[in-house]
Amino acid sequence: MVTVLYIGGLGRSGSTLVERLAGQLPGACAVGEIVHLWQRGVTEDERCGCGTAFAQCSFWQQAGKTAFGGWDEIDPGRVAALRARVDRNRFVPRLAARPAGTGLAGTGPAGTGPAPALAEYMSYYTRLYAAVAEVSGARLVIDSSKHPSLAHCLRRQGGVDLRVLHLVRDSRAVAYSWGRAVRRPDTDRQSYMTRYSPAVAAAQWNGQNAAFHLLRGVPVMRLRYEDVVAAPEAAVRRIAAFSGLPAPGRLAFLGAGWAELEPGHSVSGNPMRFATGKIAIRPDERWRADLPAGPRREVTALTSPLLAAYGYLGSRR
Ligand SMILES: [Zn+2]
Repeated sequence: MVTVLYIGGLGRSGSTLVERLAGQLPGACAVGEIVHLWQRGVTEDERCGCGTAFAQCSFWQQAGKTAFGGWDEIDPGRVAALRARVDRNRFVPRLAARPAGTGLAGTGPAGTGPAPALAEYMSYYTRLYAAVAEVSGARLVIDSSKHPSLAHCLRRQGGVDLRVLHLVRDSRAVAYSWGRAVRRPDTDRQSYMTRYSPAVAAAQWNGQNAAFHLLRGVPVMRLRYEDVVAAPEAAVRRIAAFSGLPAPGRLAFLGAGWAELEPGHSVSGNPMRFATGKIAIRPDERWRADLPAGPRREVTALTSPLLAAYGYLGSRR
């Protein structure tokens, strides 16, 4: 059974950096946001993290052959239809209500409810994870899809040794980031990342983070992005231990305030998935100066219970 480290949390919480760092560990293979592979990779042929178009990337061609006999053999529209039936954040309470690995035995009388759809939907993921492990030779596959509903689907269906890394970041920093216009370098078309108002970002931050507190029966490790940036090596070693990887020796790819990144095959994610070579790792505190007082108060008030739980409202903050 393949071990999958699923990085969850709201977007703009630093998951791409954490994925890239963890992907440098011996025995790990980071593949980006698999939830978007079917549409953005298979259908739209967006660029892989290695820089080539998905259809030209030999790693993904090999993985597609191993998993499905080739990408032509699957219908991405079918995956999207299944996702609409089972993998929605509003289904999280229902998915969370039953024990891990109960899969088909889960919901409704036989032949009704979403259980067969869940099994079929999950089969695409479990086959692909196994293929990635086989093609890369890695024992750990890192999927940074982030969405809580997919983590709940994986928990429910079983079939993989699932470990969930719940990445959190200060809601004010996250709201500031969602308010900025960021170009997507993933395609040749003019394309920008989605933007949220402060109130919407705060509501998303509450909902997505809370959903990870409902995961039961699978290992969950909570990690603050700010702690990763302050002490990357300690964070990466914690992730290795949590993922069941042997304790790594010297981490030559990490230094004080920098990391040296090999090209990867991240299929979707933040633009920094394309970064290679030496990159700086430093706190991004722009929100403190640039998020106006009104939105800042609003976001703080709306998110204060979890902000406090994660230690963001202490004296230091
Ligand atoms: Zn590639």
